[in-house]
Amino acid sequence: MSTMPSDHLLGLELVRLNAVPATKEEAIAQACQLLVAAGCVAPDFAASMQRREAVANTFLGHGVAIPHGLGEDKGLIRKDGIAVLQVPGGLEWNPGQQARLVVAIAAKGDAHITILRRLTRLIQNEASLEALFTTADAGDIIHAFTADGPRPATAAANDFSYAFTWVVDYPAGLHARPASAWVDAARAADLAVRVRHGLEAADARNLVALLQLGLKAGDEITVSAEGDNAEAGLARLKSVITGLSAQEKLDAERAKAKAAAAPARGFTPPGALPVIAGLAASPGLAIGPLHVLAGEALDIPDRPVSLTEGGNALHEALSHTRQQLAALADDTARRLGAQDAAIFKAQAELLNDSDLITLTCQLMVEGHGVAYAWHEAVSRMAARLGALGNQVLAARAADLRDAGQRVLSHLEPSIATGSLGDLPAEPCILVAPDLSPSDTAGLDMARVLGLAMIQGGPTSHTAILARTLGLPALVAGGEALATQAASGTMAILDGTSGRLYLNPTAADIEAARAFAADLAAQRAAEAEQRARPAITTDEVRIEVAANVNRPDQVAMALTEGAEGVGLMRTEFLFLEAGATPTEDEQFATYRGMIEALGDRPLIIRALDIGGDKQVAHLHLPREENPFLGVRGARLLLRRPDLLLPQLRAIYRAAKLGGAVSIMFPMVTSVAEITRMREICEQVRAGLEAPRLPIGIMIEVPAAAVMADALAARCDFFSIGTNDLTQYALAMDRQNPELAPEADSLHPAVLRLIAQTVQGARAHGGWVGVCGGIAGDAFGAALLAGLGVSELSMTPRDIPAVKARLRRESFASLQALATRALACVSAAEVRALEDAR
Ligand code: PEP
Ligand code: MG
Repeated sequence: MSTMPSDHLLGLELVRLNAVPATKEEAIAQACQLLVAAGCVAPDFAASMQRREAVANTFLGHGVAIPHGLGEDKGLIRKDGIAVLQVPGGLEWNPGQQARLVVAIAAKGDAHITILRRLTRLIQNEASLEALFTTADAGDIIHAFTADGPRPATAAANDFSYAFTWVVDYPAGLHARPASAWVDAARAADLAVRVRHGLEAADARNLVALLQLGLKAGDEITVSAEGDNAEAGLARLKSVITGLSAQEKLDAERAKAKAAAAPARGFTPPGALPVIAGLAASPGLAIGPLHVLAGEALDIPDRPVSLTEGGNALHEALSHTRQQLAALADDTARRLGAQDAAIFKAQAELLNDSDLITLTCQLMVEGHGVAYAWHEAVSRMAARLGALGNQVLAARAADLRDAGQRVLSHLEPSIATGSLGDLPAEPCILVAPDLSPSDTAGLDMARVLGLAMIQGGPTSHTAILARTLGLPALVAGGEALATQAASGTMAILDGTSGRLYLNPTAADIEAARAFAADLAAQRAAEAEQRARPAITTDEVRIEVAANVNRPDQVAMALTEGAEGVGLMRTEFLFLEAGATPTEDEQFATYRGMIEALGDRPLIIRALDIGGDKQVAHLHLPREENPFLGVRGARLLLRRPDLLLPQLRAIYRAAKLGGAVSIMFPMVTSVAEITRMREICEQVRAGLEAPRLPIGIMIEVPAAAVMADALAARCDFFSIGTNDLTQYALAMDRQNPELAPEADSLHPAVLRLIAQTVQGARAHGGWVGVCGGIAGDAFGAALLAGLGVSELSMTPRDIPAVKARLRRESFASLQALATRALACVSAAEVRALEDAR
């Protein structure tokens, strides 16, 4: 991008001093008139500027407004220029926003950003800006736009007349969150408030200035004020400042305690390494460099810099991104053709959007860092486009986010952004806010050693898939992971304890390798037994099956010791494909499963769409609470176009042989299963297929409580403890904050399981569990003791579960279950494991 010499932009003929426009419209008209007279724009440009006001806020802040035309009217611009209208008396631009300098911009291409960079730099210097509002010399204004402005004046290091001193006791120092509370309080007090540390001082109403003081715990500061009621105002401010201490300390302690707590299980490095504590999601160790994948919900650190620095960084980042996009467009055109390449050209165009640049600058003027401001501007604009309910615009929103992420990766290299297709060649530990289940399923296993998720819970579908893939994973790494993990940093991920150790030494890596080898040896020992059935010492057999979704995963499951498939989540056929699979495609998959299993049992679960499993190509209505919405069986009963082809495909596949059962997810009522049975029967009869056992998932507390009534109408139950736990405890299975408490071994969940077993027994039905806790060796033991006769889990968990059950007597498992049912918390239940 070329930097325009400012003298080409602004001459004396383009400045009008002492203007007194009565309205914003009049101000725009006057400013545009200057541009027209200077030959910069066609007269119609004024109308374009007025229309722009209707769709975007052009008030930059600090008394400066920057009206400009609509993007589609760039043809009206003859040459780049800016006109400045000085309005010393001020003019209401928007309610509560007074403009005193109206800077009308006529810029083609990327000149807009150049102008804004100069303006934002000017704005930082309040004294100079104030002078421009009233100067009688147009040359001052031209000079301000052409010369490099002076660095902002540092506040005088004197205190005002009312003052107090305070030693900063926020353990993390004055960071953005408490600083913005100070700013709010200082503004509310309507006083001139100064915060001084040594010789440096800042206006307490200015977030950037405050943060630039770089206050650390232990620094002594003087806070002083001037003005009416300064004493009372200062006292209120003091109570805000000191009142935040408790929360700041608590936050710091929590983070420290979480990281310091010795992992109950898993690897402990010999050295004292920086550690990020999340939650265990998939066991095993991964050793390698981190690769941080940014996502929409990623927390971008808000690190304010001077506006000059921010503007320059944005300029650089945008021009790098344009080059990247141009190269991508070229490459794509060669490989795939011009049509596919057009997407990157369009993305480059989106980056020229003046509203986007303006919004970014507005946010920087408000005191935000450039990366944060950019990300926020992109998110807001994309959300606006996406909310219009128009598919074309929604696609542009996705493009904007995509292009925005590229710019972001230049602005904040620690958040190296990119898609999963852009993974580095060297295998890495992938750090991401969260991955969608289909992203996880599609991971290039040759390039990913492990997963560290900022969000998510251990029973989220991403975690489940990581276990299936045998990828060590942690979830809920939180803010620590978002802010401390940088691409390229060497790390050890322990998926068993949910910890990420950063910057290991050679000795740590060696210890980790030894630990991984031990783990492998233990698995090998368990593996030796995995082909044997899970029969307790007193001869009670528990069936152990696998949760797998694709025929090509069956062989691996059988090798791990699976005796069948207890849960085939068919929604993954829909999630992994870009379109709804046809009946024939589904038939082929079900047949493939049956053939891979031979006469071993296969439980095909009908589509469970909804909750966190959203299928974009189904275009289902957005729900406020998708986990409590039209999910699973509720959706199937409303969408015969989904249910019927699936049932037909299953019955057709079963007609050719196999031990197939059908299972319905998220059943809540007797009416639902009654209706499902009727539909199954109609489909079956139409195809002259054999009758198949029909079961339901027990995942809603209502279903567990009504198990006896439901059992009369179906052949078996399989308890989905992931959902049953989230619904029983009212804790979102994906909420990282609640994940440690959302424990499937909570006695409330165990009692619902006991009730389910009782209900099924009354009608001679059997009960399985296919939620995550079935794959936990202790959980499996407890479930067997509760009377569950089949456990279905990710294949890699099978050897350890079988080994555990084969060591125990059924009588001791029953005794364990009885004790667990009498516990009052999940922690107490888990303590039973250690007491054994
Ligand atoms: C469950 O809820 O425990 C279950 C097995 O179903 P899903 O995880 O697919 O929701
Ligand atoms: Mg479920």
